[in-house]
Amino acid sequence: MSDGIVFIDGEYMRPEDATMSIFDAGFVWGDSVYDVTSTWNGRFFMLDEHLERFRRSCEGFRLENPRSFEEMRRICAECVHRAGLSNAYVKMQITRGAPAPGVSDPRSLIPSVVVYAIPYVWIWGEDKCRHGADLFVSGVERVSSKAIDQRFKNYNRADLVQARFEAYDHGCDDAILTGADGCLTEGPGFNVFIVREGAVASPDYNILEGITRRAVRELCEREGIPFELRKIRPDEIARASEVFASTTAGGVMPVTRVNGRPIGNGHAGIVTSRIQQAYWSGREAGWHGVGVSDVLAG
Ligand code: PLP
Repeated sequence: MSDGIVFIDGEYMRPEDATMSIFDAGFVWGDSVYDVTSTWNGRFFMLDEHLERFRRSCEGFRLENPRSFEEMRRICAECVHRAGLSNAYVKMQITRGAPAPGVSDPRSLIPSVVVYAIPYVWIWGEDKCRHGADLFVSGVERVSSKAIDQRFKNYNRADLVQARFEAYDHGCDDAILTGADGCLTEGPGFNVFIVREGAVASPDYNILEGITRRAVRELCEREGIPFELRKIRPDEIARASEVFASTTAGGVMPVTRVNGRPIGNGHAGIVTSRIQQAYWSGREAGWHGVGVSDVLAG
């Protein structure tokens, strides 16, 4: 299997040949946004929704993408095609660019566009993504959307990384962070959901508005499962019959323990399993999909 293809500012290359300036403000100022989509069986999932969110993230960070929406679409497809992958993790990112020595005005910089396709990534490994992970409600506070609007997918992820360290210290697989208001936000790469009395709820603020979360909402509507976005206090987890998470890199993922305590009977719950099954059978069937070859032919 190919290990992927990288596009940097107009050139396609192998991952081992991909290099960028160490002076890029994307690294030294955290001044960058990105998005991640995926293909399954050679079809992108909600590609235009990801590209649209990427466009909003660029605007939100005042990063001007030199590539049009249509060019980004084709570059994503070209990376997957050249990599020869049918199940791919496809990242697009834009960094502010490398300032000349002493330059601090971000307006003068020329942004770099990177896109790559690598084999599909399971955030917790395939087994845990499909069958359940143990999460830890972290004491690390999620950076407020008043400081960095978390609707814009960005690389300022130090809070997420520290929370993950803390979760590992407690023997858990990953973390859920709370915000300044004490309510649940999200995890390092996924949205979270609780199920109570058959209804699904997910936090409404200080989060990335996940594309997979949007798919979960649509599936709930289709399956007649009540769904709402609202504030969720951490103590609701103890009263939840199910907890699950969603992300491009793993789909709909059961959470079977939180802070060492089993959720429900400690296995993926009925509602979670229904949504997960609907999600993956949809992906297999090309739901919300566009073929890589169709994008290239279009
Ligand atoms: N929240 C954060 C912080 C993320 O980084 C991600 C994805 O990487 C998500 C949520 C899930 O978003 P999506 O479903 O669009 O992949």
